[in-house]
Amino acid sequence: MILIDGKKAAAELRAELREEVAELKSKHNKVPGLTVILIGDLTPSQIYVRNKEKSANEVGLKSEVIKYPDSVEEKTVLEKIQELNSDETVSGILVQLPLPKHIDKQKVIEAIVPSKDVDGFHPMNVGNLSSGYESSIPCTPLGCYLLIKKIEPNLSGKKAVVVGRSNLNGKPMTQLLLKENCTVTITHSKTKDLKAECLEADIIVAAVGIPELVRGDWVKKDAIVIDVGINKTDNGIVGDVHFDEVSKNAKALTPVPGGVGPMTIACLLKNTIDCFKRSQI
Ligand code: NAP
Repeated sequence: MILIDGKKAAAELRAELREEVAELKSKHNKVPGLTVILIGDLTPSQIYVRNKEKSANEVGLKSEVIKYPDSVEEKTVLEKIQELNSDETVSGILVQLPLPKHIDKQKVIEAIVPSKDVDGFHPMNVGNLSSGYESSIPCTPLGCYLLIKKIEPNLSGKKAVVVGRSNLNGKPMTQLLLKENCTVTITHSKTKDLKAECLEADIIVAAVGIPELVRGDWVKKDAIVIDVGINKTDNGIVGDVHFDEVSKNAKALTPVPGGVGPMTIACLLKNTIDCFKRSQI
């Protein structure tokens, strides 16, 4: 079984991005810039943002974090986004989720100009992705896609099952696999026989949020299994896939932690650089 090393893949991607940033700097005399807006003091969000900033600096991006207290008014955030939209030194804008209840998430997402939407959540980017046009792609599914392609460069005709249909993970993952000519089944909480669906799959991507939902006898021999889940349990962090059982059957599997997670931040940096490149055309 191939243990898909997300840490190593992310380090390789960051090294490529570092070179790309250096080339862009010598060509344009400026570097891509990422601005993150962080609202409130939720510890996981603070950790994510700190990691994003550290990684951005490591590849040579200009990075900035704007912090607001929990009590900030929605209007203040929307005005800041407008300011960043027209700031030429900012290539990508990310508002760290979740937001406090009094701030409308969709309004915030739609306030970011699509060309700087590094999360790929703006309806324009969602539509472009599903239409097969160039767009920002949500970072976690993009990371999964890059890991799958490392194992199997030609996905044409493969049967893929995506478990979970969130806008963040399941739906964009489905679009990426479709674009590669996979036959894709998207499953969710109302799917009648999830085990039977998974048993058909050459590729399984699990993005559910239920610890160890996907069991060993759900997985065909030689399947590629990507585990997006991050679940806190009494035994520590586990994924949505039962690692010990599935590793006996699968051809390749991502561990949790150390699989998809590290690729997510690396893909955010990639998206920022891609936004910059599109803005220079
Ligand atoms: P979400 O928005 O809660 O969506 C979960 C999806 O799973 C929903 O579509 C839901 O179906 C489906 N589901 C729930 N129970 C199911 C069941 N028994 N069988 C089949 N499908 C079922 O979750 P998310 O934001 O996509 O996140 C999923 C997991 O990924 C979480 O553990 C999260 O922490 C993790 N995550 C990891 C990363 C990373 O960087 N590695 C990034 C983001 C999220 P319905 O639509 O029918 O409700």
